[in-house]
Amino acid sequence: MKKIKILILCFILAIGTLAGQSVLEQTGHVRISEVNEKEIESGSKTIAIIGAKLVDGIGGEPLQDAVVIVKNNVISQVGKAESISIPANSDIVDAKGLTLLPGFIDSHFHYDFVKELPTKFLRNGITSLRDPGEWIEAYKAERESGLPLPRLFLTGPHIEMPPAAWPEDAYIVRDRKEARTAVNVLIDNGVSAIKIYFRLSLGLIEEVCTVAHKRGIPVTAHLEITDAREAILAGLDGVEHVTSFGVALLPLMEAQKYRQEIMGNNKARQVGRYDMWAKFDMNSPAVDSLIRFLAKHKTFVTPTLAAYEYRLGKGKNDTSQAKGFNNMMAFTGKAAKGGVEIVVGSHGAWVGYAKRGWSFQREMELLVESGMAPMDVILGATIKGARFFRIQDRLGSIEEGKQADLVLVKGDPLKDIKALYNIERVMLNGIWIR
Ligand SMILES: [Zn+2]
Repeated sequence: MKKIKILILCFILAIGTLAGQSVLEQTGHVRISEVNEKEIESGSKTIAIIGAKLVDGIGGEPLQDAVVIVKNNVISQVGKAESISIPANSDIVDAKGLTLLPGFIDSHFHYDFVKELPTKFLRNGITSLRDPGEWIEAYKAERESGLPLPRLFLTGPHIEMPPAAWPEDAYIVRDRKEARTAVNVLIDNGVSAIKIYFRLSLGLIEEVCTVAHKRGIPVTAHLEITDAREAILAGLDGVEHVTSFGVALLPLMEAQKYRQEIMGNNKARQVGRYDMWAKFDMNSPAVDSLIRFLAKHKTFVTPTLAAYEYRLGKGKNDTSQAKGFNNMMAFTGKAAKGGVEIVVGSHGAWVGYAKRGWSFQREMELLVESGMAPMDVILGATIKGARFFRIQDRLGSIEEGKQADLVLVKGDPLKDIKALYNIERVMLNGIWIR
C-alpha cells in the first residue's frame, strides 16, 4: 500500500514538473499583441514596389533598385529587380528616387488625449507605438473614430507607490501582494508591457519583473531615485529616458541627497535633473562603467532626448540647462558606441523643438546629432524596437513572411536623416494609408 502511495506521489510530482516546464517553455513564445489587432484591416491585393533603395531594418547592405512584393498583408518577396518575377495581377508602385523602410516603431509615445495624434503619427510613418503609462480605455474614442491607427501596444497605467507623481496615470501599489495583483490584472486586461514609475521600491520592482516575466511580458521603467543598475539587476528589460541614469552616476552622498529631495517633493526633479546632468563629466570612469553595464545586460534604452531638448537663444538663457542637455546627448552617443541597445521614443506631442506629429523624426535627428550613425538610428526605430516589444518574429524589418508595414520616403535617410520627414507613402498591414 505504502509503495503504491509513493508511486502515486511520484506520478503527481512528475506531472507537476512537466506542467511547470511547459509553462516555462510557453513564456518564451507568448504572443504579444496590439490591443487593436482585430480592428486593423488586412490587405487583399498583390502590390509590387519597384525601384526603391531598400533599407531592410536589420542592418543589411542597402539594396538599390529593389523589388518588394506584398501579398495580402504579408511581405512575400524581397530582392533585386532581376531576381524577382512580378506577379501578373500586381498593383505596381514606381518608387524610383525613394527609400523603402520598415514601418517605424515608437517605443515611447504619449497620447495625452490629443485628438487624432495616433493617426497623425501613422501618416508620418509610425506603424506601431507603445504608450507607457496610459489607460487602455483612454484610446476608446480614437479606436471608434474610424480613422486609421497604428498598432497600439499599451502598458496601461504605470505601476507606482504612494505618493504617486501622476496619480491619475498610476496603478498604485503598496506591497508585494498588491504589486503581483496589479501585474496580473493589467496583463489580463491586454497590456503588452509593464511600465514602472520612479517611486516603486526596489523590492517591488523585482516582484513586478518576476510576475511579468513568468507571463512573457517585458518590463520597462522611468527611474529617478533608484540606481538603474540595481533596478536592472532586479529584472528590468528597458529603461525610459536618459535622465533615469542620473542617480547611478552621482557619488553616494549626492545620490542620497537627491533621493531625499524627491522623496519629499515630486517636482524637485524637474530643475534638479538638468543641474545634475550639467555637472557630470562624460569622460569619467562612472560613465564608462555604467555604459559597460547596460551593454552587458542588453538593456533597451529609450533616451527621449526630444523631451529634454534645450538650446540657448530666443529667451532661453539657462546655461546650466543647456549644458545638462548636451551631456544627455553625449551620454546617449557614447552609450550607442559602447553597444547599448538604443531605441527611438518620441514622447508624443509635448516636445519643445518639433511640430506636432513629428517628434519621432525629431528624436531620430537628435540621436544622429548625439553621434549615432543614421543606420543605427533606423535600427533603433525598427528591429530593435520590435525586439524590445518582443514582436520581432512578425514586425520590425522587411523580410519575407513578415507583416507588411512599410514606409516610403523621398531621398536617402542614410545620407541625411532629415529625409525621414519626406513621407511619400505608408503601408499598414498590406494597405496604403491615405
Ligand atoms: Zn514619458
